[in-house]
Amino acid sequence: MKPEITVVVAQGPSHDPTKRTREQEIADRLSGRGDWEVLVVPHLNDLRPDAASLAALRQRTGHLIVFSWLYPRAAHWILDRHRISGQRGTTRLQLDTDGKPSDEMPSDPQQEPVERVIDIRTVPTRAIYCIDLRACTSADAVLQEVERILTETGKSASRSSVAASEGNGSRPWRSITDDTQRRWYPVIDFARCTNCMECIDFCLFGVYGLDESDTILVEQPDNCRKGCPACSRVCPENAIIFPQHKSPAIAGASSSIDGLKVDLSQLFGKPEPDQHAKQIAQQERDQQLAASANQSSSSSSTVPPSQDAPRRDTSDDTSDDLDKLINALDQFDL
Ligand code: SF4
Ligand code: SF4
Repeated sequence: MKPEITVVVAQGPSHDPTKRTREQEIADRLSGRGDWEVLVVPHLNDLRPDAASLAALRQRTGHLIVFSWLYPRAAHWILDRHRISGQRGTTRLQLDTDGKPSDEMPSDPQQEPVERVIDIRTVPTRAIYCIDLRACTSADAVLQEVERILTETGKSASRSSVAASEGNGSRPWRSITDDTQRRWYPVIDFARCTNCMECIDFCLFGVYGLDESDTILVEQPDNCRKGCPACSRVCPENAIIFPQHKSPAIAGASSSIDGLKVDLSQLFGKPEPDQHAKQIAQQERDQQLAASANQSSSSSSTVPPSQDAPRRDTSDDTSDDLDKLINALDQFDL
């Protein structure tokens, strides 16, 4: 019988040796326990819907503890998009130090309650704890947190399994490999989204659509223009996340985090400082539209392929920029 808790260690998108070491230390430290199983999978953001890693996670219906190089909110809603859903668990391993869940919307007692998409969705009762690997500076602290979650979820560590953990890795973790390539797309935080449709009206690339109950969804993620975060600026609820964006607020954090001092927006063109967010968004979107028109005129393929279509053309002229962006982030976020 499978353990009721699965610990997932999702690798970073690059081959940064510092990150690989941390991932391996954590997987090793958590191995050898009968209380949970450990799966190592590729970078969550880059997995395609038919990935073996996602299929394996869909089979696990118990609690999940997911370590990744992503903000927890981004990781949670990426999984949700792939039909791996659950209640959000709160972890003590966080980058923010204000003692609150780092990425929840502040509530205003004067404000009328607003119905959000999550209020009308059915979400499984199991919990998903997403933990940012940047907050995991010690494998021992990680083990303690996983044990705390084990207790919180009504389980308790057995004596024999604790002894096994002291042996450090007596049972190996399982690694699932998938053929990945870097991807750029938005994910929607349905705990914030009010289904207002601003994003679908704004995007000119057909990224958004509606499901059978007329709820917004990211229908064609790979139609999104690489490096463009425009619609995240027009969403009134800050519900749109670009997991790979340079700005923590757009990538899923609630507040900016010191340490990312390089202005990577130079890679994609920097907006003028006093522009209103909506004007900036329109400028970003229109730049992408012009770039798309230029690309179309020099190529026989005018419509970018959808997520579920065969692999996109890796000769896309913006892919180098995306690779540079992610590689640069890898150098600075540890
Ligand atoms: S703009 Fe934001 S709140 Fe409105 S439907 Fe889109 S994601 Fe939801
Ligand atoms: S970033 Fe631009 S292309 Fe991508 S979904 Fe938003 S508006 Fe559409």
